[in-house]
Amino acid sequence: MTRQMQAAVVEQFGKPLKLREVDVPTAGPGQILVKTEACGVCHTDLHAAKGDWPVKPTLPFIPGHEGIGRVVALGAGVTAVKEGDRVGVPWLYSACGHCEHCLAAWETVCAQAQFGGYTKNGGFADYIVADPNYVAHVPAGLTARDAAPLICAGVTSYKGIKETAAKPGQWIVVSGIGGLGHLAVQYAKAMGLHVCAVDIDDGKLAHAKLLGADAVVNAKTGDPVQAVKTATDGGAHGVLITAPSLAAFKQGVGMTRKRGTCVLVGLPPGEFPTPLFDVVANCITIRGSFVGTRHDMAEALAFAAEGKVKADSELQPLSAINNVFERLEHGDVPSRVVLDFTGA
Ligand code: NAD
Ligand code: ZN
Ligand code: ZN
Repeated sequence: MTRQMQAAVVEQFGKPLKLREVDVPTAGPGQILVKTEACGVCHTDLHAAKGDWPVKPTLPFIPGHEGIGRVVALGAGVTAVKEGDRVGVPWLYSACGHCEHCLAAWETVCAQAQFGGYTKNGGFADYIVADPNYVAHVPAGLTARDAAPLICAGVTSYKGIKETAAKPGQWIVVSGIGGLGHLAVQYAKAMGLHVCAVDIDDGKLAHAKLLGADAVVNAKTGDPVQAVKTATDGGAHGVLITAPSLAAFKQGVGMTRKRGTCVLVGLPPGEFPTPLFDVVANCITIRGSFVGTRHDMAEALAFAAEGKVKADSELQPLSAINNVFERLEHGDVPSRVVLDFTGA
């Protein structure tokens, strides 16, 4: 008889997820089976379930790309991991390994890339099938709960900060202090940067202060661009926009210092107007950044293993997923919700 597992399934875009008993998947040749211990809930899972983006996942699918668990079965030919290893199954589920981008260690933009919880079933389930060549290797000192948010929010923030090219002693703006942003503040401080946190919620900004932000700006009151320019003496050398709001993008470009770099990470559907003259005359770089490579992942996890970065999380059972999505949509999740699969 096939074994069954619990999973939260998107059956229709924009509708509540369905909790279903489904067959435990099997690891085929070159694959592994992971028993889920914890899985973070990223705002991307919400975009996925709403069908927000131009390329939509095929229905039905199981979201979740911050799944952490133990390897419980190896498909034929697997040598990259062994049974019992604790791994993370990330957004970058797999890539081709031989295109120009893979060869340049930019596997995140491989045209053949598969995405966990999007084009492949993800971590909102008791078991996940994964590609052993692309899983994250969780350092021994990190619990599943602490590791889960790092697998997407952590690596994405860390890579985005690197992409701003801001140097120690310079200013970075982190716009959006949610799952990604609360980690970005900590990575940026650990990297020697001055941090100006921007959000529309005073509670999130107070939290950013506790995490080490040197200045905070509420984008809902007054002129946030001017407030950032004042706080940073002329604009930030690097701006990292994690907010899932188009308004934050236009503001973020305005917050960028002359010759600075504004890195776009948040993915609200749509487009934002760019003040061409200002961008040109101030020699501003606007750059997209998409999760991180396996090497970025190892570095991002190492910061946490060394105690320099720690995800704040709230544990919830899988059965609470629709309520968690509802809260995420309204900005009511303090940092990261992590789904617990251990029944603790
Ligand atoms: P989240 O919901 O946890 O946090 C979003 C934060 O933005 C909240 O604190 C909210 O109050 C704040 N915010 C909302 N409107 C704002 C505004 N106008 N100005 C400033 N702050 C504002 O979301 P998250 O999980 O951190 O994800 C954020 C976004 O990043 C999503 O769009 C997600 O899809 C995207 N994302 C992108 C990548 C990538 O690789 N580029 C990876 C992961 C997530
Ligand atoms: Zn994510
Ligand atoms: Zn490739």
